[in-house]
Amino acid sequence: MRAMPEASAAAATAPKPTKSAPQKAMEKLGLVRDIDLALHLPLRYEDETRLTPIGALREGEAAQVEGVVVDCQVELRSRRQLLVRLKDDTGTLLLRFLHFYPSQQKQMSAATRLRVRGEARVGFFGREMVHPVVKVVDDDTPLAQSLTPVYPTSAQLPQAYLRKAVASGLARADLRELLPPGVVPRGLPSLKDALHYLHHPPPSASLQALQEHHHPAWDRLKFEELLAQQLSQLQAQRERALLVAPALRARPGGLHEKLLAALPFQLTAAQQRVSEEIAQDLARPQPMHRLLQGDVGSGKTVVAALAAAVAIDAGWQCALMAPTEILAEQHFRKLIGWLQPLGLQVAWITGSVKGKARQKMLDAAASGDAQLVVGTHAVIEDKVKFAKLGLAVIDEQHRFGVAQRLALRNKLKAMDLEPHLLMMSATPIPRTLAMTYFADLDVSTIDELPPGRSPIVTKLFTAAKRDDIVDKIRGAVTDGAQVYWVCPLVEESEAVDLRNATETHAELSAALPGTSVGLLHGRMAPAEKAAVMAQFSGGQMSVLVATTVIEVGVDVPNASLMVIEHAERFGLAQLHQLRGRVGRGAKASVCVLIYTPPLSETGKARLKAMAETTDGFEIARRDLDIRGPGEFMGSRQSGAELLRFADLQEDAPLLVAARQLAPRLLDEHPEAARRQVSRWLGTKAEFLKA
Ligand code: ADP
Ligand code: MG
Repeated sequence: MRAMPEASAAAATAPKPTKSAPQKAMEKLGLVRDIDLALHLPLRYEDETRLTPIGALREGEAAQVEGVVVDCQVELRSRRQLLVRLKDDTGTLLLRFLHFYPSQQKQMSAATRLRVRGEARVGFFGREMVHPVVKVVDDDTPLAQSLTPVYPTSAQLPQAYLRKAVASGLARADLRELLPPGVVPRGLPSLKDALHYLHHPPPSASLQALQEHHHPAWDRLKFEELLAQQLSQLQAQRERALLVAPALRARPGGLHEKLLAALPFQLTAAQQRVSEEIAQDLARPQPMHRLLQGDVGSGKTVVAALAAAVAIDAGWQCALMAPTEILAEQHFRKLIGWLQPLGLQVAWITGSVKGKARQKMLDAAASGDAQLVVGTHAVIEDKVKFAKLGLAVIDEQHRFGVAQRLALRNKLKAMDLEPHLLMMSATPIPRTLAMTYFADLDVSTIDELPPGRSPIVTKLFTAAKRDDIVDKIRGAVTDGAQVYWVCPLVEESEAVDLRNATETHAELSAALPGTSVGLLHGRMAPAEKAAVMAQFSGGQMSVLVATTVIEVGVDVPNASLMVIEHAERFGLAQLHQLRGRVGRGAKASVCVLIYTPPLSETGKARLKAMAETTDGFEIARRDLDIRGPGEFMGSRQSGAELLRFADLQEDAPLLVAARQLAPRLLDEHPEAARRQVSRWLGTKAEFLKA
């Protein structure tokens, strides 16, 4: 069934041949080149290589049998159904169809020879199969020679069509060995043999080993993939080393020192160390590509401000991008507070800055009058131009996609110079990921918190204790405490989410008379949000009921109590981020996690981790244990989806081998290296450079 009748009719009248629905569906799945098809591997297999005698069928067994139809009739038992009796030398099998077309009744008329495949049921009335797959055969129709692949597909793409396409893609694809002899780990087949084996395994193959991806053929694929990934990283790293960036040096007595002197606190030793690392990068004529990681509250913002001061002092602009308006706004205020007294002009660009105000900001960025530009994703829009951008800072970098990071780097090129790039994150990168996606990244780590912070105590309560918790809040507020009350996202539904937060706000307002209770959620206009945040951070508001809009970065040092409702619905990293909103001042802080039993295993593990540690690095390790690296990166993150076959944890030995081989291959066989990358990554290779 190659083309639908409608499709061919359309093709006859259209001036040029249009793509059929399955062709379009294939493109959607990224199956464009022959190699894409060859690398589209089966999800599982069906065994059509043998026939089971009907008499030998066992309960629950998936099997293929062949026989001749004895009779075929529609019966009205409890409901209308088509019943076909099939017979071979060893017994009779009843085929039962609850949904059927009249054509099927004709197809399976008496005396027809059928080959059917399905799950056998052996009951009181004998052997039967419900809705088996049926094929009309002759007595000499050959059996399949290899296991039949079942491919991942979509509704518009019939399995049979895809099978043919993959088979011909596999036959046409250039699968020549690219790697020199002796470098592939021992015992692994060639890529060509591996692919042919995986698409069409012999009847003797272990289905379990294949399906669990434990087979030398799978290992070869994983190795190839990891090698391509390592190569492209290494290439990016070498290309970056050739780029030129402005060398930005801190002047004695310059802005950097003035800012340090004006700060209301002393830098911690860790802040000093990472500032020094960053300063050294900035002073070099190659673009910095550095990740600054530090737990929530460790004081990354001031480190970024100091870097900005160096860039600005050297006569360049700095851009700072944050993932949410609230966070960008907060940075903006903080940086203004620090930098404006030193005579700097700061511009502010987000989606909600419109009209004349926006134009003014755009002009200030383009003319270079604004030495610092702070904003959200809006900063990378085409309209935003910089006169002389020397440094770009991306806060909470894991919240941005690769494409956005790439856009930032590409757009900020000025005078053939690359800007320096500083990324910040409170989510440390696990080692396996550091070796792969972030191999091309220098990392600075702030490993201590500013002094005078009292550790946060985390307590777990079931929802039954909610009233007691409200009583506690009443007491705390009377003593001058400020409280966050976070309501979860309910199944991604913004409307329900909103109602929850609104209801909780009303309840708490009623339960805490005389207390100012505010509400903050994602649907509010930015100006409203900003007004609420200003009241809370100014101390005029005691309780802030919020959705997860406050998740990242919000900094109100006086807040000391965090209540998270339905904590079991949050991810571990998210809980840690939320908890990090308190414990920022000298006050002893408490985080209350309210959960509704029963908890899932992972839910239990998450809450246990929260109760046991406040160390972000430990939390990240546990998160990785609970979720695995793919999930850890999140769907918006670069890497995970680029690795289709290899698993960073499980395939660590292959990763190590690929990592060792990559530099040698790139040096000694550059053309093979290039082909390896293009074979595996195609157009995605560009993404890995971001
Ligand atoms: P994060 O690393 O989570 O982004 P912030 O930069 O928001 O942390 O800093 C958290 C709080 O700690 C802010 O109020 C900041 O002004 C304050 N802070 C930063 N460094 C120090 C320090 N060395 N001593 C005291 N307070 C500091
Ligand atoms: Mg921050």
